[in-house]
Amino acid sequence: MKTKNKIIFTVILLISFMFLLITVDMIYNFRKYGVKSIDDKAHAVAKTIEHALTSQMVNGTIEHRELFLSQLKNIPNIDKIWLNRSQKVIDLYGEGIEEEKYQDAIDKHVLATGEVQRVINDNLFTQSSYRISIPYKATANGKINCISCHTNAKEGDTLGSISLKMSIDDTKEMGIATVSNTILIALILMIAITILLNFIISPFLSLFDSIKKVMHKAQEGDYSYRVEKAKGKEAKDVSLWINGLLEKLETTLENIDSKISIFLSDNQKVTSKDHLINVKNTVDRLSDVYKFRKTIEFDETNDVIYERLAQILETQMGVDEFNFFEINTATSETVVVYSKKEILCDIFNLGCRSDRTNIIVDSTQFKNICPACTNCDGFNYFCIPYSISNEIDLIISIYARTKKESLKIKEMIPYIQDYVDAAKTVIISKKLMHTLEMNAQTDSLTNLKNRKYLEDTIPKITSQTSRSNIQYGVLLLDIDFFKVVNDTYGHDIGDKALKLVARILNESIREADIAIRFGGEEFLILLYNCDEESIFTVAEKIRTKIEQTEIPIGTISIKKTVSIGTSIFPKDSENINDCIKFSDLALYKAKNSGRNQVITFDESML
Ligand code: GH3
Ligand code: MG
Ligand code: MG
Repeated sequence: MKTKNKIIFTVILLISFMFLLITVDMIYNFRKYGVKSIDDKAHAVAKTIEHALTSQMVNGTIEHRELFLSQLKNIPNIDKIWLNRSQKVIDLYGEGIEEEKYQDAIDKHVLATGEVQRVINDNLFTQSSYRISIPYKATANGKINCISCHTNAKEGDTLGSISLKMSIDDTKEMGIATVSNTILIALILMIAITILLNFIISPFLSLFDSIKKVMHKAQEGDYSYRVEKAKGKEAKDVSLWINGLLEKLETTLENIDSKISIFLSDNQKVTSKDHLINVKNTVDRLSDVYKFRKTIEFDETNDVIYERLAQILETQMGVDEFNFFEINTATSETVVVYSKKEILCDIFNLGCRSDRTNIIVDSTQFKNICPACTNCDGFNYFCIPYSISNEIDLIISIYARTKKESLKIKEMIPYIQDYVDAAKTVIISKKLMHTLEMNAQTDSLTNLKNRKYLEDTIPKITSQTSRSNIQYGVLLLDIDFFKVVNDTYGHDIGDKALKLVARILNESIREADIAIRFGGEEFLILLYNCDEESIFTVAEKIRTKIEQTEIPIGTISIKKTVSIGTSIFPKDSENINDCIKFSDLALYKAKNSGRNQVITFDESML
């Protein structure tokens, strides 16, 4: 039902109900009032007759009461009036005249009980009447002592009664007329209200209906509906404002939606027909990606970035089993950069299909789509290639055990793309930074670490040794009479000899040890977790190896020796630079006492 009809119907219902109540109340009160006034009239008549008869009795003219009683019939609205004698009065004065002999059952009851009896006979369409019978009681207390005449009666005895039958048609007709008038007024009022509602508020109600429909559609995300043209200036203005606002909202949201979705990978995908919801979702996604991007900018290494990306896959996307690979586009060298699951494919030997084709490998399309996935039975796999830079591709391999998981992963691929896109430049810059740092810490001639690396590493080593019992062997090595090589064979040969010595040093130490080009032909070796004996053994091994190594120079070859001074950090000093100085003292001693030997620092050298 339209709002307008609803309001009109409700108002009419309310007015009808109100008038019904008023009418019922009016009928009830009218009747009550009518009965009361007739009752009062009857009592007044009864009292008058009582006093008149008593007076006649006292004056001794009671015998002439017939005229008086017949005159009473002429009182308006009194149809009939008659008297009743009690048995005691009959016993004393006889049955009386005609008007005193109409006794019926009601009269008898009144005489017997002394109570007033009323009978109302009201009919809507036929004549209505009111019958009342009022008892006369003996009393010795008034001006006239009844008992003095009615000697056989005592105080309170019913001596007789008077009965009146009266017409109440006048009152009834008045009541009917009043009620009819009220109903007529109500009808006129209802018609007036209906017209008023229809003509005055009708435009607003129609407008409201139209707004309701339009807002309902807008709430569902469809902003294309417009408010219907309304009648009346005010309603017209409102409809214009709302339509203008909707127009603006629709075009603005559409614009924002299409513009900001460009920043996300799956901008073609229509997620909801409600542009507002789309805008909200896109802004949410952009904000998440932006936060991720801002966070990783401050991460120290790419490992941390990949770890963070993995965290997002797990916590935000609900993806549990995956690995990240970095593939060098030039050499195809493949490195696992993050591993959350055992590697099921033979990517290292058979290569990566998704990297080669630059297309997502989806085993839900073809079960054995990738020949390298040799252990993938029982899994669906998705390998997604991302080009990070010209040199580096990132492959994200995700495994799914169930159909549901596979569907979820497919849904998440665009979201992963957003995060990888955001991470790309950061990964590249971190790689660049890393390369620059490595270059700055590497000696270009020998490829060994340089003194900058040493300076950068000292705090790490110092805190490591202070936390644990680990000690480092500090070896300072200098080639004996190296100047001669340069002088005799030239600088290039000297460089070649330096490279060779550096290679021997590298080959003679373990992964955790560090070989540093400390100066021109001076090298520092830090031996991780060594005792005094093993330091000397390693130093001696290096010395011997160099001593035995032939350095080819054209058709001939030469041999060189080295002198080595050693100390132990932090045993000899808690300051590693002091230990280097101590090794230098030991080296000095080795040089001065014949060269080609290993000398261990002791405090006598200070
Ligand atoms: P000793 O140490 O036994 O006392 O004698 P030495 O001849 O080695 O003396 P010293 O350590 O003073 O000489 C270092 C020489 O190493 C001087 C320099 O010509 C040479 N040298 C330093 N750096 C380089 C380099 O990068 N390339 C070449 N070819 N020679 C270098
Ligand atoms: Mg030297
Ligand atoms: Mg030297």
